[in-house]
Amino acid sequence: MRAVVKPSNGKVELVDIAVPEPGPGEIIVKTSLCTVCGSDMHFLDEFPNEMLSAAFPGCLIAEGLPMGHEGVGTVHAVGDGVTRLKPGDRVIGSCLVGCGKCHECMTVDHSSCSGGGSVLFGCQAEYYKVRFAELNTAKVPDGVSDDQALFATDIMSTGLGAIERAKAGTGDSVAVFAQGPLGLCVTAGARARGCGLIIAVDAVPERLEMSKKFGANVVINPKDEDPVARIMALTDMQGVDVAVEAVGTQTTFEAAARSVRRGGVVSSIGVYGLTPMLQMPTIVPSFLHRTIVTTLCPSGRDRMEHLLRLIEFGTIDLTPLYTHRMKLADAPAAYDLFRSKAEGVLKIAITP
Ligand SMILES: [Zn+2]
Ligand SMILES: [Zn+2]
Repeated sequence: MRAVVKPSNGKVELVDIAVPEPGPGEIIVKTSLCTVCGSDMHFLDEFPNEMLSAAFPGCLIAEGLPMGHEGVGTVHAVGDGVTRLKPGDRVIGSCLVGCGKCHECMTVDHSSCSGGGSVLFGCQAEYYKVRFAELNTAKVPDGVSDDQALFATDIMSTGLGAIERAKAGTGDSVAVFAQGPLGLCVTAGARARGCGLIIAVDAVPERLEMSKKFGANVVINPKDEDPVARIMALTDMQGVDVAVEAVGTQTTFEAAARSVRRGGVVSSIGVYGLTPMLQMPTIVPSFLHRTIVTTLCPSGRDRMEHLLRLIEFGTIDLTPLYTHRMKLADAPAAYDLFRSKAEGVLKIAITP
């Protein structure tokens, strides 16, 4: 089968490798749709394969790092002990794989697994493996398309998680820093949860246009004006109830901390990559008297089933995020396009 692999930093290539075999508790999925995500860019451009191998034991194959963790497909083969799934079922797998047995899986979330969980590497291929499949796979309802279902594997969960974990709800004011695919999911989630004033911040005009479609009431381009000053002016100089950091930079984290009212919440979901340290403002407006919450990606079957329900019954439609469609053979070009942020690119639907 063909698979997208990273042999070394900054480089992806298509290789021919054997279709994986399912071990106990595992399934093999035949891919119908996959995509490139911001996290893929961190894996590709920042973290050397040796570092990833230390963090996620067993993630490498001889050719390098199998890329991709957001995919949809049909079950191709099941391993011993898998009873809930059968060949032909249309499924999605969580981008983060939990074991379901460790302390963190049982008490917090599968995304913090310490019992052998990992990232679901390898979706950008004709077939991919899901470990602990009963726990980490959800069947896709007939009324949900592949295009829609794909979002429930990662960015929809993370984006909505930012709002849920901050307990933002009816009438709350929310500022979302960065409107890439993930930030746009936050904006859509804030709207779905009934937030009152939703402010979207990004330097790319096309992304701000999209954020209006997803429910933002006010958009701010930091190239034109100071986002913190504008947010303060919009909130009677009090700050918003919740500010979400959705890209992973010092600048946006600091702006989020300065935009939140006393007693409010800074919700951080951006991936900071190799940024070694974050600084927090201590001079008013500061992080003092604020709560800071972080969310990776709430994962697992139950979580994905909840998200699929939001999609199936029309609460959220994220499909406008697809700006491009490409074939798996063109994956290296897809990475170049995604990295460039050119052509208004948000999500690239990749089919085998
Ligand atoms: Zn992702
Ligand atoms: Zn676990």
